[in-house]
Amino acid sequence: MSYWLSVDTDDRCHLPSKRGHPHRSSLKMPHWRTDGYRASSELLNATDCFIEWVRDGPQVTIFLIAEQLDCPEFTHRMELLRNFENITFACHGWGHRCWAAWPIDTAGFSEMLVAARNRISTFARSSWRPWFRAPAGYIAPWMAAPLAASGFELDSSVNPSRWVARKMGGDWNAVITAMEQTGLVERPWLTTWIGPACGPALSLFPFSVVARKAWLQSSRGRELNPIENDVITLYWHLLDHGRKKGLWQPPIHPS
Ligand SMILES: [Zn+2]
Repeated sequence: MSYWLSVDTDDRCHLPSKRGHPHRSSLKMPHWRTDGYRASSELLNATDCFIEWVRDGPQVTIFLIAEQLDCPEFTHRMELLRNFENITFACHGWGHRCWAAWPIDTAGFSEMLVAARNRISTFARSSWRPWFRAPAGYIAPWMAAPLAASGFELDSSVNPSRWVARKMGGDWNAVITAMEQTGLVERPWLTTWIGPACGPALSLFPFSVVARKAWLQSSRGRELNPIENDVITLYWHLLDHGRKKGLWQPPIHPS
């Protein structure tokens, strides 16, 4: 088995406490389309650190939020990354709406997928991959058919841990079955006995301690292979690169 690295480009404004969730957010975001996004200086700085780290580094898939291409400073950084041979781009929605937390809206979700896909694929050119990660991990079985119909081939939204299933009322097996039935490949995130090991878990005690160990074990002596379907999925956030005065790195084994 090999492993796959991916990074989500979330800014502070994309936290579910800020927007996109019907109960958790201060900004409810009844419609998926947003415009006028401007990146925070925190995200721009973290992206600069990421660029330095990934230059001549491992292969990484960037799950981009389509609205972020409204911001010239952020887009400029993505253009730099587009020239890197080790970078591919995929879709993390348009404005980070937590679709599965809202009533089923197949038409709206389809419309958003097409708009986000068109925008990111046009930008990324040959670096585009028809892969999707649901904002804040809010995925549900009904989302599989619109994904397939919009040309997506792979989903990486399932966080198969008890904690998250309880929080979101999610049924991971039903999601995986729905993805398979519509012909999508599902790549669930790495988890450990304690719970999630990717994304926020990398910096959230006590998950962080166990997650770090699991990452090192998962990447030790293994091949990095983003193409193979049966992979260990490791993902983090661009903003993480702003930690430790910009010296933070994902805990990947140097082997
Ligand atoms: Zn996100």
